[in-house]
Amino acid sequence: MSEFSRWGMTMRTPAGPVDLVPLYRRLDGDMEVRVVDDERDAAVLALTHIEVPITQITRVLHMAHRDVLGILEQHGMEPVYVPELFAWTGVAQTSSKQRRTKRLAERIEVDGRPFHPHAPHGTELGYTEFGCHCHECRPAHAAKLRADRDKKRMAVAA
Ligand SMILES: [Zn+2]
Repeated sequence: MSEFSRWGMTMRTPAGPVDLVPLYRRLDGDMEVRVVDDERDAAVLALTHIEVPITQITRVLHMAHRDVLGILEQHGMEPVYVPELFAWTGVAQTSSKQRRTKRLAERIEVDGRPFHPHAPHGTELGYTEFGCHCHECRPAHAAKLRADRDKKRMAVAA
């Protein structure tokens, strides 16, 4: 039985309810959005519950790694660690289509653009495999296209 439940953009956690909107916005890089201090523990639990890696949680909530771990421990939860980038690629290669479909379905809309809460932001993979078009994934994808174009041009010139 899960102690987590969600209605709209609020998530109920064992440490109380938390508004997900500011958390998603901060995940998307908008650090101007305030997270209510009283909701900090609940935010740690909610983000971990939706599989946001601990490295992103410390950044989003401006917290020390050990403090995040402490809150998780209090509630008997394990932190999520990001697999290395090659691991994501490996996953993408094995059952790419189904996983991608599932990931695309997990996206939410932030500022009118599709956003994936646990994509490896700022990477080509975030854009193509997770369909995340956040302010970090879009430039990564544009850079990749540009690099491909340059490579092609150099090959033609050679
Ligand atoms: Zn992204």
